[in-house]
Amino acid sequence: MSKKLLLKDAHIEGIRYFETYRKQGGYTAAEKALKMTPDEILEEVKASGLRGRGGAGFPTGMKWSFLAKPEGVPRHLVVNADESEPGTFKDRYLMEFLPHLLIEGMLISSYCLGSNTSYIYIRGEYSWIPDILEEAIEEAKAAGFLGKNILGTGFDLEIYVQRGGGAYICGEETALLESLEGKRGNPRLKPPFPAVKGLWERPTVVNNVESIAAVVPIIDITGAEYAKIGVGRSTGTKLISACGNINKPGVYEIDMTITVEEFIYSDEYCGGIKDGKRLKACIPGGSSVPIVPANLLLRTVNGEPRYMNYESLADGGFATGTMMGSGGFIVLDEDQCIVEHTMTLARFYNHESCGQCTPCREGTGWMYKILKKIEKGEGKMEDIDLLWDIQRKIEGNTICPLGDAAAWPVAAAIRHFRDEFEWHVKNPELSQTQNYGLAHY
Ligand code: SF4
Repeated sequence: MSKKLLLKDAHIEGIRYFETYRKQGGYTAAEKALKMTPDEILEEVKASGLRGRGGAGFPTGMKWSFLAKPEGVPRHLVVNADESEPGTFKDRYLMEFLPHLLIEGMLISSYCLGSNTSYIYIRGEYSWIPDILEEAIEEAKAAGFLGKNILGTGFDLEIYVQRGGGAYICGEETALLESLEGKRGNPRLKPPFPAVKGLWERPTVVNNVESIAAVVPIIDITGAEYAKIGVGRSTGTKLISACGNINKPGVYEIDMTITVEEFIYSDEYCGGIKDGKRLKACIPGGSSVPIVPANLLLRTVNGEPRYMNYESLADGGFATGTMMGSGGFIVLDEDQCIVEHTMTLARFYNHESCGQCTPCREGTGWMYKILKKIEKGEGKMEDIDLLWDIQRKIEGNTICPLGDAAAWPVAAAIRHFRDEFEWHVKNPELSQTQNYGLAHY
């Protein structure tokens, strides 16, 4: 059984409220942190090996150490709660059931970074959660853990919750900052990076909800102890939101030493494939990461078991591996049509492109149109090559990662399931009534 650090108290009734959270030992990590110096906290976070839980997996301590500290200029912590990646809903769970864990993590992180005004930018569709967060902020303030002169330390902190307008692109950190400033959420050209010029051109750290929540157990048990959980550079625990054709969709906390096979088939996690069907493929890190067929998902090309961690999932690069990403684990059974699935994703990225760069604005539209044609049985063989060509021209040629996020699912689908694309072209009649999965798998 995986060790629980973030969700260990999630089952306790009333844990959403300050009184219950405090009774379970809540805010003791904050009390400990406020007796440390900001540099000591930074060293603990670095020692923990914590990697950003939003998708990129960049070391959090290193990110914090890049924060510029010019004299007299305010700094900010912004929590990225714009969790819009299809298949990803773990931050929603944390905010809905353990809001004080996030507030406590923000208190420790803000103190470490020197932010007296911090923000939670939350996706508009999570319409009921801002009230939960604002209630928790008020409770923490009433108990002296927010506001002026917190616990007599002289440190002040206000936290504000900002609702997003429903654009996926606002999950990209610079688009988020634009939106937070009241502008259209267009990604910025980098450099300068937010650590130097972020919110209102002030040094800013933008971190995912889960990353900030993880700071609480890191201070609680120390960075060195946190680093002992997990394996290699995949330290600590990771929240995975599992969905698709499985028996037990939900949010699970894993310690990154379990195999993918165990995660899918064990009753402790996904509980196997629904209706006893066979596993066809999986996207383990949210819709932007490459899809992997079952044979490469459970084992690497060397025949080693594949593990639920950053390194093992990526083993072999995109040719045979994928990415941990945001931890949005989407399972597809034998009946799922890969072309239709890829088309649905292409439509999403086309809709969500902000339109600033030509390869993304035009390319996502072309990919969607071609996929739609193939899926309807109206495609030609050369369309598959054209699709491949378009995704190649998007990847790496755009301002922000949405371009790559749109290209990778198409590339992986063609790389691993080209026969299924060809089946749609060769069987125009059948492709309107059934799918390759049903006919040939
Ligand atoms: Fe906008 Fe797409 Fe360019 Fe990102 S890659 S800036 S979403 S057009």
